[in-house]
Amino acid sequence: MAAANFVQRMNPDVQLLPIDRRLDRGNVARLLEGVDVVVDGCDNFATRLIVADAALAAHVPLVSAAVGQFEGQLAVYRGWEPGKPCYRCLVGSDPDRPDVSCADQGVLGALTGVIGSLAAIEAVRQLVPFGEDSAGKLLLVDALAFRFRTIALPKDAGCPCAD
Ligand SMILES: [Zn+2]
Repeated sequence: MAAANFVQRMNPDVQLLPIDRRLDRGNVARLLEGVDVVVDGCDNFATRLIVADAALAAHVPLVSAAVGQFEGQLAVYRGWEPGKPCYRCLVGSDPDRPDVSCADQGVLGALTGVIGSLAAIEAVRQLVPFGEDSAGKLLLVDALAFRFRTIALPKDAGCPCAD
């Protein structure tokens, strides 16, 4: 609700539909109905997989943003397209993958602003394409080394999205 209130104060012409409910496998498909793009910045791996699977199934572009202590990652997934990876092509399918929370490890606060702003750019790019397609690439931000890198993210031939 705090985010909705902030956006409403910033731009009263924006129509908001805040959903004050926890996302899970049971409600995610319904929550994505009619959605043009999903921006995921959640703080745990289990929810990321739920969101990624649902976005893939619904053919909704997924902008996935993540931060660690001093590093950030950003990618756009449209795994239903030939040659384009899904989130699982990057992370695999292990549901027991270790999950370190931001609360446990700490996060450089300004980095969330950087990655969040870049995610907003990619959300707009998915709605109104401009420049190069970002799907199939992974942007890595290393605040310790003062470096941005982009690497190609191939589709995993063993991933369910490749079937
Ligand atoms: Zn995949």
